[in-house]
Amino acid sequence: IKEKHRNNYNLFDSSISENFKMRLTMETELRKALREGQFELHYQPQKNLSSGKVVGLEALLRWNHPQKGYIAPAEFIPLAEKTGLIIEIGDWVLYEACKQNKVWQDKGYDPVTVSVNLSAKQFHQRSLVDKIKEILAETGLSPYYLELEITESMAMSNEDYILKTLKDLRDLGVLVSIDDFGTGYSSFKYLSLFPITKLKIDKMFLKDEQRENKAIVKSIIHMSHSLNMKVIAEGVETMEQFNFLTQERCDEMQGFYFSKPLPPKQLTKFFRV
Ligand code: C2E
Ligand code: CA
Ligand code: CA
Ligand code: CA
Repeated sequence: IKEKHRNNYNLFDSSISENFKMRLTMETELRKALREGQFELHYQPQKNLSSGKVVGLEALLRWNHPQKGYIAPAEFIPLAEKTGLIIEIGDWVLYEACKQNKVWQDKGYDPVTVSVNLSAKQFHQRSLVDKIKEILAETGLSPYYLELEITESMAMSNEDYILKTLKDLRDLGVLVSIDDFGTGYSSFKYLSLFPITKLKIDKMFLKDEQRENKAIVKSIIHMSHSLNMKVIAEGVETMEQFNFLTQERCDEMQGFYFSKPLPPKQLTKFFRV
C-alpha cells in the first residue's frame, strides 16, 4: 500500500510540473506573439434583418503561430486572463479594430460598427474609459462606430463603479452590448438601469431547436425591445433559423449562414463600393 501511495504521489507530482512547464512555455510564446505581431483580427459581419445590410463587424482574435498555424482564442485566452497578459493583448485588439474600421471608412465604404470583446480583467481596469478615449483620438474613429461586448457576469452587479463605467462609456458615445445573453443571471433591475444598447442572444439557444429554446429566443427579443434595446442573434447557421428570427423581428444576426469570420482583405465584398 505504501509503495502504491508513493507511486501515485510521484505521478501526481510530475503531471503538475508538466502542466506548469506547458503553461510557462505558452506564456513565453504569448509574449513573443504580441512582440512579433503574430496576432490577427478576423471580422464577422452582422446583418440588419430589415435592411439586409451589414451594419457591424465583430472582431475575433486569432493567433497565427509560425509553426502551429491559426490558434483559436479558446485555447489561449484563459491563460492570458490568468497571467494578466490579456490587458496588453486587449489593448492591441482595441487599437487594431478601431484603426481598421477607420481605414475602411476612409476608403469610402458604408460605415459599420466594430464590436470588440472585452475580458473581465479589461473591463475592471479603472483606466478603461481613458484608454478608449485615447485609442479613439489616436485612430480618429468616431465613438459611435465602436461597440464593446461584455458578458452578463461582468456587468450585472451592484458595484457602483460598474454603473459609472457604463455611463462614462455612454457619455463618450461608445456602444455596449451584453454578449452570450441568457447564460448568466441578469435581472430586470440592472437591465433597465444600465445604459446598454444591445443584447446578444447566446448561440446555444439556436443550436438546439427545442420548443423551450425557441420560447427563450422569442422572449429575449421581446424583452430587449420593451427595454428599448436592440437584439442580435449569434450562431445563425441555417435558413430555418434565419426565417424564425426574421419572423420574430430580431434586429440583427451573425453566423455561418451569412459569413464566417474573415481576414480584412476578404471582407470588402460585404461593403457596398
Ligand atoms: P464569442 O464572443 O461568443 O464569439 C462568437 C464565437 O462564435 C466565435 O468563436 C465565432 O467564430 C463563433 N461563431 C460565429 N458564427 C458561428 C456559427 O454560425 N456557428 C457556430 N457554432 N459558431 C459561430 P471564436 O472566434 O473561436 O471566439 C471564441 C471566443 O473567444 C469568443 O466568443 C470570445 O469570448 C473570445 N474572444 C475572441 N476574440 C476575443 C478578443 O479579442 N478578446 C477577448 N477578451 N475575447 C475574445
Ligand atoms: Ca462576442
Ligand atoms: Ca457570444
Ligand atoms: Ca463567449
